[in-house]
Amino acid sequence: MKYISTRGQAPELTFEEAMLTGLARDGGLYLPAEIPVMSFDDIAGLAGLSYEEVAFRVMQPYIGDTFTDAEFRDIIARAYNGFGHAARAPLKQLSEGQFLLELFHGPTLAFKDFAMQLIGQLFEAALSRRGETVTIVGATSGDTGSAAIEAFRGLDAVNVFILFPHGRVSEVQRRQMTTPDDANVHAIALDGDFDDCQARVKDMFNHFAFRDEVRLAGVNSINFARVLAQVVYYFTSAVALGAPHRKVSFTVPTGNFGDIFAGYLAKRMGLPIDRLVVATNQNDILHRCLSGQGYFKGSTIPSVSPSMDIQVSSNFERALYYAYGEDGRAVSQLMDELSSGGFDVSQGAMEALRESFSSGRASEEETLSTIASTLAATGELLCPHSAVGVKVAEEALRASDGAGTKVPMITLATAHPAKFPAAVEEASGVHPPLPSRMSDLYEMPERLSRVDNDLAAIEDHIKRHIAS
Ligand SMILES: *Cc1c(COP(=O)(O)O)cnc(C)c1O
Repeated sequence: MKYISTRGQAPELTFEEAMLTGLARDGGLYLPAEIPVMSFDDIAGLAGLSYEEVAFRVMQPYIGDTFTDAEFRDIIARAYNGFGHAARAPLKQLSEGQFLLELFHGPTLAFKDFAMQLIGQLFEAALSRRGETVTIVGATSGDTGSAAIEAFRGLDAVNVFILFPHGRVSEVQRRQMTTPDDANVHAIALDGDFDDCQARVKDMFNHFAFRDEVRLAGVNSINFARVLAQVVYYFTSAVALGAPHRKVSFTVPTGNFGDIFAGYLAKRMGLPIDRLVVATNQNDILHRCLSGQGYFKGSTIPSVSPSMDIQVSSNFERALYYAYGEDGRAVSQLMDELSSGGFDVSQGAMEALRESFSSGRASEEETLSTIASTLAATGELLCPHSAVGVKVAEEALRASDGAGTKVPMITLATAHPAKFPAAVEEASGVHPPLPSRMSDLYEMPERLSRVDNDLAAIEDHIKRHIAS
């Protein structure tokens, strides 16, 4: 399987090269040259299998001969071994036709562990075979950083630097990044917001001299291997509800569009997904875009669902690539326009997007009241991100009332409520306790560096800390 850039100007790579590279050299994102398709019988055959076996069958066509089947099965087994739930991604019913996919049983209590734990094992296996080391640099609005640090801590071949917006992540998120004491992990509090963190990481990748000197590798959701890991739970949950014999829809709390883009791939692979509903908080550039108002940046407003406080949604570029008929030049031009504020989506591309995606938004008040109402109706305590999803899912279900056979709606619960205790307690009056396996988080000493929002300062910091 070959991997190509959404902007059409970077060399084609193998899966392993695309994974170790992250961002393409033309500024684009890697995608498989062709999306593998699973037959009706292949999908029916997933029923009753373990999460790990489904993961193997869904992902194997994408990795080709990068690893032998035995090696790849072993990598998957190690990736999900540290999860606190035997089902890995258990599905719960909230009401008639409404389900919640719990993706927060990994080591850092957010869905990002699904991709990050796998990528940690993939990197270790590939780098040790190549005898190489890399420097991983990532930007985080909170959850990616802790998931990356947890996945790479203590590995010999990797140094990890995570940029997070100073003062804009929750205390649990910050402590998960600053308390691991392994010498190869480095938390950087940047004086800026998440978009600044993400922009500086992109700058480092576009600064080829630095990129080559430190052997930069990216594990942000632009890394295709991360998107791929997330395709798996669309299959396990849809099959649990009767796919491929029955359609399902998904509502996905969305920031960088990585998680929901994985759902799009699942649909293109043959999973019978009816709607993919993008749920945003008040930072609603995607909802505005999918409502036909173009893709124009605003400024980020901090919210109770900070992992979705994003104005530029990196992986949306991948959806645009397909919506524009796999035309790298068109995508390249849109991204140029975006750097000076935004762009309008062509009518043809808008129609293509609407074939798969719908959207909705939840205000701060709606998010908090959904936490309270869901607790009252079901006993389930939602994190604010998951609550944005449930609110938008309920709206989507109401909109489809009377439209014939009801398609079940699965909302992705992206984090554990204990990751966002202040907002959850404000909404519900209930203080969500951390699972006992991480109850010492508030006692451990923290280690971090505060750095200016300045490319040279960040690069200098990284070079000094790799050396030591
Ligand atoms: C990262 C994150 C999201 C957004 O996911 P994207 O793939 O960036 O769209 C939603 N909820 C939580 C809890 C997250 O950590």
